[in-house]
Amino acid sequence: NMDVISLGELIAEFVRVHRGVMHDVADLYMGPFPSGAPAITIDSAARLGLNAGFIGVVGNDDFGHMIINRLRRDGVDTLRVIIDNDSITGLAFVAYDQSGSRRFVFNLKWSSSAKLTPSLINPDYFTGVRVLHVSGSTMYIGKGPRDACIKAMSEARRRGVLVSYDPNVRVELMSINDTRELFLNSLRLVNVLLISEEEVNVLMGGGGALENAIKLLNKGPEIIVVKRGVNGSFAVSRGNQYHEEYAFEVNEVDPTGAGDVFNAAFIYGYLKGWGINQILKFANAAAAIKVTRMGPMEGPGGINEVLELMRKGKQRGVK
Ligand code: ADP
Repeated sequence: NMDVISLGELIAEFVRVHRGVMHDVADLYMGPFPSGAPAITIDSAARLGLNAGFIGVVGNDDFGHMIINRLRRDGVDTLRVIIDNDSITGLAFVAYDQSGSRRFVFNLKWSSSAKLTPSLINPDYFTGVRVLHVSGSTMYIGKGPRDACIKAMSEARRRGVLVSYDPNVRVELMSINDTRELFLNSLRLVNVLLISEEEVNVLMGGGGALENAIKLLNKGPEIIVVKRGVNGSFAVSRGNQYHEEYAFEVNEVDPTGAGDVFNAAFIYGYLKGWGINQILKFANAAAAIKVTRMGPMEGPGGINEVLELMRKGKQRGVK
């Protein structure tokens, strides 16, 4: 039986070698790296030791085979990953500018990832599953993927499967106004909302993250977890219970995927029944390990690495 399943885009990602303006066409990008927000979360969950499965579509190309091989090697059930002969695996190109902020170029709307449809969501797959994780990024690709996510969430809720959701805003794929509407309409199907500070403020139209998180508690989720980059994370749950943990001090190499690794670690701790502070600390540590490595899916290879950073690492702001 599965602990956690997810669905959505499977991406081959390329990362610009140099920061800032383009100097030379030689060695422009490194990669491909296996990627896709929901895939990173599910792969990380499998590496932490959960039984994990994924529903998605890749092309019959090197990129698709690379991603499937990687998920399989890490123990993810890929029986429901379709290999499509008439499309090319989703692609992403990431560039960092001098300040470290990111620019994405996606080829997703015309890729295999756009071929995810509700017909690929077989409700039988949800039997015995404990958590369904959904990434908003899947919903921004097109109607097929969006309807597939909504069907998956509805089937999960009907069966008592916990739904975790990360909006993973992608302005390159959907306008903020449409993203906001979709987000607010999806909340009633969500148990655990995992969201970045910037996203919660943009989607709620300004204000502070804590105030916004508290507002969202009335709209469906029983817990709102806010990811704050170098400032760590906090959570609010019903009854306005507040918990926070500082981030770990690490050397940042590539932050892409940190939020998705955080989600996997949060789900891990939640399923283990840990206290919220313990879960936040564990998730901060798992995400911090990811940040030190190049490649979006290169977070912790196992639970011991995370526990070691929790023991030996230093949290920013904690003496
Ligand atoms: P996202 O990747 O979704 O934008 P964040 O940037 O908030 O989300 O990162 C997710 C989590 O990763 C944070 O809550 C924090 O625990 C960890 N993290 C991110 N950046 C760093 C960093 N530079 N140092 C340590 N931890 C970090």
